Amino acid sequence: MSDWDRKRVLVTGGAGFLGSHLCERLLLDGAEVLCVDNFFTGRRSNVAHLLDNPRFELMRHDVTFPLFVEVDEIYNLACPASPVHYQHDPVQTTKTSVHGAINMLGLAKRTGARILQASTSEVYGDPTIHPQTEDYWGNVNPIGVRSCYDEGKRCAETLFFDYHRQHGVEINVARIFNTYGPRMHPNDGRVVSNFIIQALQGEPLTMYGDGSQTRSFCYVDDLIEGFVRSMQSPAGFTGPVNLGNPSELTIRQLAETVIEISGSNSNFEKRPLPADDPNQRQPNISLAQSHLDWEPRISLEAGLTKTIGYFKHHH
Ligand code: NAD
Ligand code: UDP
Repeated sequence: MSDWDRKRVLVTGGAGFLGSHLCERLLLDGAEVLCVDNFFTGRRSNVAHLLDNPRFELMRHDVTFPLFVEVDEIYNLACPASPVHYQHDPVQTTKTSVHGAINMLGLAKRTGARILQASTSEVYGDPTIHPQTEDYWGNVNPIGVRSCYDEGKRCAETLFFDYHRQHGVEINVARIFNTYGPRMHPNDGRVVSNFIIQALQGEPLTMYGDGSQTRSFCYVDDLIEGFVRSMQSPAGFTGPVNLGNPSELTIRQLAETVIEISGSNSNFEKRPLPADDPNQRQPNISLAQSHLDWEPRISLEAGLTKTIGYFKHHH
């Protein structure tokens, strides 16, 4: 492939957990990748192995400021994703989602690039319908501790659809459900990394509430495949589209599974349930199945085994 034919792809938040896997995948597919990150929760070490690739470029930049580059596709992932990190500086979290979306949509409008938004199942809040389908409008507290993230992401979706309707920008909105895997930040407080690290250290697993709340966990490689298929879907397929693994389990079941796979002798320790913690969450993925021919392939056991292997060597 000549340099002229290569796609130039911008990944914002590219040094984070999902972003680093996406950069890796895009390079494998032959693209030229510009990874932009302000290193708030992302780490240079996540992409250190890509730095020698002449098609990879790493730029320190905060997406709340405009960016002038020439690209063909944009994946907008910049935003802290774990409750601990996004509640650390909630005003900055909303700015990142909203100003970041405006800046990246402006860039898409000028360059004609297609742009994908990493949205979230949090737009459904504490859902009253189950499993969640894309046409559900959600049940979000606008003034709670999770609102900086939830409402920021909801407003970003609004901006994506208004830039599409008003300016004809080619968009795709992916609503990601809990995703895990190697390179999750060890201190970000998300349940999978917490439980694995606690199990490996023989400490009690911190279970918030009685552990009866549910989530559905998707392994990172499956999610990245969903991203790429969304970007490659026919123009006009805007989403929003749920990307996640529909196999739902309680947090208590997750704790038991992590203990079993890691061969740990840890037990549980109950902690208070954080405010506005959604009670249940499971994606309906019919839209992704029919329009993207996508569904997750990696079981929880296989994904946890890989992730535990990573944390054994990186923590
Ligand atoms: P992450 O925290 O590892 O990655 C986010 C990245 O964005 C980090 O590298 C961080 O430094 C960067 N960033 C934050 N603010 C920035 C700013 N102002 N300018 C530039 N870079 C900035 O989290 P992740 O799990 O990789 O999540 C990536 C995206 O996917 C996020 O938008 C998140 O909301 C979304 N998402 C993730 C999940 C999940 O389960 N992992 C679920 C739903 C949505
Ligand atoms: N959780 C837990 N122990 C932990 C971290 C999280 O029991 O050490 C629970 C949390 O209350 C929530 C679920 O696990 O019900 C998923 O939490 P996470 O922060 O990973 O993501 P969320 O889906 O809440 O954004």
